Amino acid sequence: MGRCRQPKQVEAKVSIHKGTLYVVATPIGNLEDISKRAVVTLARADLIVAEDTRHSGKLLQRLGLNVPMQSLHDFNEREKSEAIIQKLLAGKQVALISDAGTPLICDPGFRLVQRAIAESISVTSIPGPCALIAALSVAGLPTDRFLFNGFAPERGSARRELLESLTQFTSTMVFYETPHRIADFLADAVAVFGGGRQACVAREITKLFESIYRDSLGNLHQLLTSHTEFQRGEFAVLIQGAVVAEERSRAEHSRLLKILLGNSLSVKQAAVIASEISGSGRRELYQLALEMTQNRRSGDEQ
Ligand code: SAM
Repeated sequence: MGRCRQPKQVEAKVSIHKGTLYVVATPIGNLEDISKRAVVTLARADLIVAEDTRHSGKLLQRLGLNVPMQSLHDFNEREKSEAIIQKLLAGKQVALISDAGTPLICDPGFRLVQRAIAESISVTSIPGPCALIAALSVAGLPTDRFLFNGFAPERGSARRELLESLTQFTSTMVFYETPHRIADFLADAVAVFGGGRQACVAREITKLFESIYRDSLGNLHQLLTSHTEFQRGEFAVLIQGAVVAEERSRAEHSRLLKILLGNSLSVKQAAVIASEISGSGRRELYQLALEMTQNRRSGDEQ
């Protein structure tokens, strides 16, 4: 990739070709997770574009690499991208990395990639670690469809507004969270979605204190607020989507049972008749009828 000396003729030929922008994933904790292709690509690059060059410098040092680096942040991406594009147009090979994981996933790089595409520069992925995908793969929640929300807004009202817009969303939802906001985020999630939804808090994935908590949202909120050390580290939070069909049939069953129980039938009789009418299981309806009568009794007592 242009680092070794070439005969003059070949050099002239190479310089009329555009370089390639390599989007390279780096570890999210465990340095062993860097791929061989990532190391080779970084070693051969003419330039490595990173968020925090001091942070990424340590990774390169561990890999024994000494390649020129340049920083690129969200706040300066627009102007910095132009100089990088010029280098790519001049035939330089550029590798884009972020502090951790996959660039562009809640990290800078989008404008640079967009500009490169607009200039018909080849953009190639060197895939690897990504907290979102790692968390999804172990959460035990459906992965066939999911929504990645990145970080929820910092302000409580904006955060609740976002969560409220997702109450009917039926697929798994994934959020990134910081240690100082994880408790507030979970409190809001319980308030908006209810404590019963299944969820997963994936903390410090691939690191020494990796902990994957899988439980109902309510229990996870309780657990994480029970000890402040549970709130340390980096988090991905996954929440089960709305189980619309189940909720709807539960509402219909309740309506049916309410009529039957209101006509002086016993729990068992109501369950049998409701099962005949709806085609749903007797045991499930019996359980629901029992809950309804118990709730009614405790309501009468208060
Ligand atoms: N580009 C990264 C990726 O591919 O996942 C994400 C960068 S974003 C600025 C950082 C956030 O990702 C953290 O605040 C946390 O929510 C999540 N994250 C990163 N590493 C993590 C890890 N090891 N365990 C859990 N979450 C992590």
